[in-house]
Amino acid sequence: MVMVCQKVTALSVNMVNTAGEAIIPPKLEKKLFLSLFVGAFCLISLLTMAMWKIAYLGLAEIQQDLPLLIGAVLGIVFLFALLGVINLFFSLKGWKFPIPFRGKTYAVVNFLYPVVVLLGKVLKIDLRRIEASFVAVSNQIVRNTRLKVPADRLLVVTPHCLQKASCPHKITRDPNNCKRCGGCDVGAMVTLAEEMGFNFFVVTGGTLARQIVKKLRPKAVLAVACERDLTSGIQDVYPLPAVGVMNIRPNGPCYNTHVDMEDFKRQLEEIIEKPND
Ligand code: SF4
Repeated sequence: MVMVCQKVTALSVNMVNTAGEAIIPPKLEKKLFLSLFVGAFCLISLLTMAMWKIAYLGLAEIQQDLPLLIGAVLGIVFLFALLGVINLFFSLKGWKFPIPFRGKTYAVVNFLYPVVVLLGKVLKIDLRRIEASFVAVSNQIVRNTRLKVPADRLLVVTPHCLQKASCPHKITRDPNNCKRCGGCDVGAMVTLAEEMGFNFFVVTGGTLARQIVKKLRPKAVLAVACERDLTSGIQDVYPLPAVGVMNIRPNGPCYNTHVDMEDFKRQLEEIIEKPND
């Protein structure tokens, strides 16, 4: 199975699928999201400042100190957001931020994400590129927290399209119904789940994934999906740390997809706590 995946990975770089999209998304460029994120931050800051200035006289009429009070609150929020931006730079460089603010970066990134998308739309940047870049940035932030969880507190979810379309077995009810025939990557994932001890589920959509998260209450999530599902999933499960692994789509979106099993295993080994850790 690993060999099959490696073959798919090797063959598919720079190729397009039947839908005309890259089988493996182009290099995960963190810089794209970072540039848009800084742009979104500046935009929101300027807009807030302009609104405060416009409302200044009106606020002063209500109460003399009100403009300064609101200005001070906005200033504090700005400062926190600025620390989030600086921390994001540090995270992407692999440096440690010198104050205990690291966890909040995730909050600032998620908060500004809709503005980033809006800015990308205005600049006519493909949404898929922005989403892939967001996943790369988000993964890096999680990685920099040196996240380690016991295997039984890790939830791994993959979409249904990873299962071979012609497979008759109902693995969404229970992945152990998979007969591990080698027809798709699910068999190898079930085996890994058994060996490493993590919780593994194949889901039909976001609702089922959310239900499983609610039921299992994991400490972290690792998801395999396309950039769109990963982006919404990472934001859905926030503040739970979530790592995204991009799927491979040799047959177009949502049909007989694959995963780079070596990358998948590497990510698992990074997150799962070893007994002597
Ligand atoms: S590996 Fe499992 S899920 Fe995939 S085709 Fe075989 S039996 Fe079906």
